[in-house]
Amino acid sequence: GQCVAVCPTGALTEIDETTKVIRRLADSSKTVVVQIAPAVRAALGEEFGYEPGTLVTGKIVAALRRLGFSYIFDTDFAADLTIMEEGMELLGRIKGHLAGDKSVRLPILTSCCPAWVNFFETYYPDMLDVPSTARSPQQMFGAIAKTYFADKIGVEREDMVVVSVMPCLAKKYECQRKEFSTNGNPDVDFSISTRELAHLIKEANINFGELDDEEFDNPLGYSTGAGVIFGTTGGVIEAASRTAYELYTGKELVDVNFMELRGFGGIRTATVDFDGLKLNIGIASGLGNARLLLDKVRSGELELHAIEIMACPNGCVGGGGQPLHHGKEETIRRRAEALYRADAEKPLRKSHLNPYIIELYKEFLGAPLSHKAHQLLHTHYYKKEQNSGH
Ligand code: SF4
Repeated sequence: GQCVAVCPTGALTEIDETTKVIRRLADSSKTVVVQIAPAVRAALGEEFGYEPGTLVTGKIVAALRRLGFSYIFDTDFAADLTIMEEGMELLGRIKGHLAGDKSVRLPILTSCCPAWVNFFETYYPDMLDVPSTARSPQQMFGAIAKTYFADKIGVEREDMVVVSVMPCLAKKYECQRKEFSTNGNPDVDFSISTRELAHLIKEANINFGELDDEEFDNPLGYSTGAGVIFGTTGGVIEAASRTAYELYTGKELVDVNFMELRGFGGIRTATVDFDGLKLNIGIASGLGNARLLLDKVRSGELELHAIEIMACPNGCVGGGGQPLHHGKEETIRRRAEALYRADAEKPLRKSHLNPYIIELYKEFLGAPLSHKAHQLLHTHYYKKEQNSGH
């Protein structure tokens, strides 16, 4: 992911994608839907003179409406969906393991960072059954938008364009993976970065600072606090723990803050207690740290149940598509704090309580890990040759 930030072909892709988005917005035969990733709301303001860590969510929604998007949705919704699928997968593997099933592979590894996925497909081909098969929130969003939501509003798949705003440059390549297309039509058509969105807003002469806050559209715009913290290191595994705890123990989790999973060390380990069941969790951010952690798992030196890995140091808040932070860790830290604040302010903070997620399963998917959920929300990994590029 990060190599892309300094790679000239990456820059060309950026220009290209923004132009294509502008063209689709001008085409009245297209319904253009946009999703924004969690880390974007904690950083975009910096491009307009706000202090790092200022949440500008409502202004982003307002700006996207002025730019002409038909529906403004939230990747956080899809993050809640990711937790449903990944959380059930985690529980399934743990129960299998406890029952002595030798075919069950632990630890389970999070799979929402495409730069990391690319990395383990290249360097850990012997461990391709370790990652969760759950697609990233970006891709889950696209798959649901172009089926469930397109059906709801009576739009054909070919007439819907899905754009994502991501803190990330690797997300552009993720959209191009053939697993995420149906008959050559990608689930997510274009991914633009936080910086590119800032550029679009400036080009359109929108006075960002003067915009009044607006709300996301529904049903794909509603999320719990668990979906928001996906944007920082440790957030995915904390979100998963909130849901997995309740589903495993059948008890209410009163304090949802897993403080032991938060922090900024490049490699961390912690134990969470599921009512007597102790789960060992590993967290790494930055590819060098990820490699160190995974090598210890491969050699058997570390025994973990679940691992979260993000390619960018400190997770997506520090992503290669974010406003430049010039190596200032304080900037990244403040963005992460903003996401924990947004989480704390949400009325619901556990993914499985999201009423629109519940509705989606009831009306369309059936249950987590159902046949339909597997088709739309899960993926496969492939052994990649070293130096094969993207
Ligand atoms: Fe993209 Fe986030 Fe992975 Fe960085 S950590 S490459 S921003 S998904």
